[in-house]
Amino acid sequence: MHPPVDILAIAAHRDDVEQTCGGTLLRSSALGLRTAILDLTQGEAGTRGSANERATEAAEAARILNVAWREALDLPDGRIENTWENRLKIARVLRELKPRVVILPYSQARHPDHAAAGTLGYDACFVAGLSKVDTGSDAGPHRPFKIVYASLYADVRPSFVVDISPYIEQRFQSLMAYRSQYVNQSPGGAIFVPQEEIRERTFALARFYGMLGGVRYAEPFVQKEVGLVEDLMLVPVQSI
Ligand SMILES: [Zn+2]
Repeated sequence: MHPPVDILAIAAHRDDVEQTCGGTLLRSSALGLRTAILDLTQGEAGTRGSANERATEAAEAARILNVAWREALDLPDGRIENTWENRLKIARVLRELKPRVVILPYSQARHPDHAAAGTLGYDACFVAGLSKVDTGSDAGPHRPFKIVYASLYADVRPSFVVDISPYIEQRFQSLMAYRSQYVNQSPGGAIFVPQEEIRERTFALARFYGMLGGVRYAEPFVQKEVGLVEDLMLVPVQSI
């Protein structure tokens, strides 16, 4: 049994979290929160690198991101489906880690695995709270309080952004831990962005979302619920 975590980021592939919400995890851990990452696949179908290489790289990235826990499930890479069996696999982790906040991929995405992970993750959060469902774990039912969607690659207006300005370099280092993916090489040369450009692209996107929030670098999120305000004087982001 693991000690409970505050925030669990669930993603389809190793290196997804590093691209979409790694800065938010860094910021959260700097606030003293316990963070965790659950990757749904092991990367066996990737154009570059093997699943074993990715496992080593993911462990290094987890160290850079200061996460308390990281594991990968065995869902087929490139074929993530929202099945009952897969919901149970994720629900089991949710019950063991008991996160208050879960970060999921936004469910409209170019990569079918990312889209599927968003809806599968949501359904798993629901199942994890059903006391009569047996996930094969001794841990009791648990449902996260909050679910937010990392929307960096989605063409959607974010509900809010998280200021990651102090953590942008560290987040970039966590992505660069995936040497098998990002070092220039001939396999996948036509579809992968050249290494030199990755830094510029990731910083440009973070800068764009930062500008939306009036800060330098930020990561975007969508929440389905409306925002709740107690004090209008404390609502951030300047209007005019
Ligand atoms: Zn991915």
